[in-house]
Amino acid sequence: MRDVVIIGSGPAGWTAAIYAARAQLKPLVIASSVEAGGELMNTTEVENFPGFPEGVMGPDLMVKMQQQAERFGTEVLLDDVVAVELEGPVKRVVTGSGETFESRTVIIATGSAYRRLGLPDEDRLSGHGVSWCATCDGFFFRQKNIAVVGGGDSAMEEATFLTKFADKVTVIHRKDTLRASKIMQERAFSNDKIEFAWNKEVVGISGTEAVTGVTLRDTTDGSESHLDLDGLFIAIGNEPRVHLFHGQLELTEFGTIKVEGRSSKTSVPGVFAAGDVIDPTYRQAVTAAASGTVAALDAEHYLAALDQAQVSVTAAALQAAN
Ligand code: NDP
Repeated sequence: MRDVVIIGSGPAGWTAAIYAARAQLKPLVIASSVEAGGELMNTTEVENFPGFPEGVMGPDLMVKMQQQAERFGTEVLLDDVVAVELEGPVKRVVTGSGETFESRTVIIATGSAYRRLGLPDEDRLSGHGVSWCATCDGFFFRQKNIAVVGGGDSAMEEATFLTKFADKVTVIHRKDTLRASKIMQERAFSNDKIEFAWNKEVVGISGTEAVTGVTLRDTTDGSESHLDLDGLFIAIGNEPRVHLFHGQLELTEFGTIKVEGRSSKTSVPGVFAAGDVIDPTYRQAVTAAASGTVAALDAEHYLAALDQAQVSVTAAALQAAN
């Protein structure tokens, strides 16, 4: 039986692993079958992670976190978790390849997934002009006319990055002001290749084999218009990845896993959660990392209390026998 199984390999998962490994708990990180490292593997330069005055590329940061966790004895498994049983003293974590791991604690650091527009043609044209990842797909849009949906930091980052390839990038936003930070807004506003379609929402995506355009609805008067496009990047935020835990853990009104106060303690003893999966507000690499620390320390204290209780029970039994 293991002491700690960590599900997820973003900043929260790796930081939890670093702390748990240094506490000699020999954590196992189940890191996804596709690629370890979480959402930061899809970003470009991270400029706000302390300790990197020149910035650091997202994937480089994640590789360094993994190396740091492995240095202290973290085991890493490239597999997906497909089921969990969290109640009771022995937790079970089942992977896609059919292995079941038993553990006294589980730390959930599953992060969040790209939010979708929910349009019928969105999935059909995914990979054929519809994308959620500028770093992954931007290269295919050289000298093309594309759009980015959203008004947050992600949308500004994607739009700015995509101007390296595209001739023109239209930011489609449902309001007339952006949610993005001032610095990201200014970067986008000062870029000649970026235009803004304000107060517009995408209500249809056209194209048979590949995207050819979108239907926009004006959010102020409901009128509809068409915009010709070669590609549509969707950057409208994320949803916490909680599907494995429905019916087992309490969730919040935001759909994140509910934790007790500033701790990582979920509604089930021995199960802790950290990072974007518990955080509807801040969702930064550095806050996720800090949250991973909290989870590892909570798990460590929980295990120490269990061991202490076991010692007391054994001592009492010995005393009774004598
Ligand atoms: P946000 O939640 O901050 O922004 C989402 C944007 O998408 C909002 O403008 C929202 O509109 C819009 N939106 C949401 N749902 C829909 C929908 N169904 N249709 C149309 N538009 C929609 O998400 P981000 O991914 O931008 O950012 C998440 C976090 O990550 C933030 O804390 C951000 O600061 C951080 N981040 C930081 C970066 C950096 O510093 N380099 C880079 C990227 C992200 P509305 O405004 O109307 O709600």
